[in-house]
Amino acid sequence: MNFALTEEQEAVRKMLRSFVDKEIIPYIQEWDANWHFETSIMKRLAELDLMGVCIPEQYGGAGMDYNTLAIVCEELERGDTAFRTAVSVHTGLNSMTLLQWGNEFQKEKYLVPQAKGEKIGAFGLTEPNAGSDVAAMQTTARRDGDEYIINGSKTWISLCDVADHFLIFAKTDKDKGHHGISCFIVERTYPGVSTKAIKGKLGIRAGNTGEVFLEEVRVPAENMLGDEGEGFKIAMSALDNGRFTVAAGACGLINASLEASVKYCHERKTFGKEIGKHQLVQQMIAKMSSNLEISRLLVYRAGWLKNEGKRNTRETSLAKWIACDAAFEAASDAVQVHGAYGYSNEYPVERFLRNAKAPVIYEGTREIHTIMQAEYALGYRSDKALRQMLPSWPFEEE
Ligand SMILES: Cc1cc2nc3c(=O)[nH]c(=O)nc-3n(C[C@H](O)[C@H](O)[C@H](O)COP(=O)(O)OP(=O)(O)OC[C@H]3O[C@@H](n4cnc5c(N)ncnc54)[C@H](O)[C@@H]3O)c2cc1C
Repeated sequence: MNFALTEEQEAVRKMLRSFVDKEIIPYIQEWDANWHFETSIMKRLAELDLMGVCIPEQYGGAGMDYNTLAIVCEELERGDTAFRTAVSVHTGLNSMTLLQWGNEFQKEKYLVPQAKGEKIGAFGLTEPNAGSDVAAMQTTARRDGDEYIINGSKTWISLCDVADHFLIFAKTDKDKGHHGISCFIVERTYPGVSTKAIKGKLGIRAGNTGEVFLEEVRVPAENMLGDEGEGFKIAMSALDNGRFTVAAGACGLINASLEASVKYCHERKTFGKEIGKHQLVQQMIAKMSSNLEISRLLVYRAGWLKNEGKRNTRETSLAKWIACDAAFEAASDAVQVHGAYGYSNEYPVERFLRNAKAPVIYEGTREIHTIMQAEYALGYRSDKALRQMLPSWPFEEE
């Protein structure tokens, strides 16, 4: 067992930390206040070769391991959840799914430009009446010659207004429940695709989230990812990667909450001493610090399983559940440590608290992960190898 980061991973962490300190933290309060998604950050990440950090070089990526993706996500969310969400969706949910399930044509056409950051990918699973209950989706795809015609709508889709490509899940057979869902690569430019941002969100205000409408959208049959009826399995395997990035990002939010709280503990005095000297304040700091360690270990174990090419649904779900709950608690305690000042946007911790809520809801709510963990423990659920597995790391050149 080796717990040390490699020199390459340390270098990525250092580079990202300095990038976030210089190019995100000084501006984020203004972007958040103005509901502004700064797309240049994604361009800068592409210049740093980080939009496809764990995609093989042969498909335009940086060819690094899956835990390097975790490091990227942790450091980005130390700046703001919006940019980590962007990488979660573009790399975790979309590009890694193309890597796992795509054929050579699909990888060349869609994965390569996404890994280089020239095109942006999004993930359309949730619908107005189907979130946790994926099989309740109403979007349909019907075959017409060499095409499928998609009708329906998706909601709460991150990057909806900026994405070039969407993975869209639709029912190809309404009578088959989970087995009747298929996955399609849909380009924004296809006639009948339109998007609209959701306003009034609690948090991630510096990010873009919204609806995708699909009206008689003709998609070439060659854009079906995997086989007809394989969409549910593809969606769940995509979530194994998305959830991994969300868990890693949660570590960054815990770290940001801890850093801000430690700083304030040394600045603020009550009853003649720094507040950090009061034991009840120390209890909150101790919780943040220990939860950061616990969450990171769970994330890195899931990343190690990915590197080994093994199923990791159980371990990734555990990391996501524990880290996101811990991040929400850390952000809430960070506001508490700051007292009334924490309740205003003079300090960043109120934004941390608002941002920390969405990851407890998306990519499997806290309740869904609780049930999953109970089902594994009770023997009601187990994982078998999938028809297509994410490639192990180091990647083999083909
Ligand atoms: C900021 C943000 C970004 C998002 N980005 C994306 C994206 O890019 N792509 C995408 O497809 N989706 C995205 N989502 C949607 C997200 O994945 C869903 O909101 C999530 O899956 C939950 O679905 P729901 O909101 O419909 O809640 P519901 O499924 O309606 O759940 C409502 C409540 O009931 C509970 N519940 C439901 N079923 C059970 C059960 N069996 N047992 C116990 N409790 C249960 C839930 O835990 C929750 O508390 C995003 C959401 C947010 C907030």
